[in-house]
Amino acid sequence: MQMRKKIIAGNWKMNLSLSEGEKLADVIMAEMPATTAEVIIAPSFIHLANVSAKVRGTSIKIAAQNCSQHNAGAYTGEVSAEMIKSSGAYYVIIGHSERRVYFKESNELLLQKINKAIEYKLKVIYCIGENLAQREAGNHFDIVHEQLKAVLFNLSAQATVDTIIAYEPVWAIGTGKTATPEQAQEMHAYIRDTIKTHYNADVANAVRILYGGSCNEQNAASILTLPDVDGGLIGGASLKAESFISIIKAAN
Ligand code: PEP
Repeated sequence: MQMRKKIIAGNWKMNLSLSEGEKLADVIMAEMPATTAEVIIAPSFIHLANVSAKVRGTSIKIAAQNCSQHNAGAYTGEVSAEMIKSSGAYYVIIGHSERRVYFKESNELLLQKINKAIEYKLKVIYCIGENLAQREAGNHFDIVHEQLKAVLFNLSAQATVDTIIAYEPVWAIGTGKTATPEQAQEMHAYIRDTIKTHYNADVANAVRILYGGSCNEQNAASILTLPDVDGGLIGGASLKAESFISIIKAAN
């Protein structure tokens, strides 16, 4: 059984001014504990270059929160994978539930975005997860299965190994309601098993699956130490250096 390197990724969403984001990056760098985890922060597009410049030369990597499915051209307001890459980012989050729900991003569109990101050598953090009604109806496994099948399973085995999956139950995002360790482990094991069935055991054992949804300094240890949880995608708690640092420590 191979050891998967843990990842703690902070999704800043549409928060923080430029100076606030730079200051937060400064404090995270100054207080970074000794860790074997990879640490990622995802500022807004407009701050990617500045925050990338700040963390250059450290172990912290930068992610964008979205990217266009197009190469370039007349797409006012859009940001291409090439632009993201050239700003110093290394990762891109694709398929966050806020993109799926508020911007009506379909599995089909997300596959196009992922392919574009891969073409420009960005590593993808692909978000999946069921909403409350789907969980209450007992459809959560089917929903997650479809999000894997319609998107991830169109990629080569290597591209899937290189993709980070973030399981984020929508009912837990920003609600203060976290999945229990049992719910998280059950779904992460299901995702890994589904990947094993589609590809093989090597791919399933190598792929990293993050948990996201109201993860904070109080509950991080109980989730991040689960056997099939390889780290966390952190929203609200990534906006304060103290809580983000505590979560990084909990991943050790
Ligand atoms: C997220 O949006 O990816 C997330 C996990 O948010 P929060 O931690 O605030 O629930």
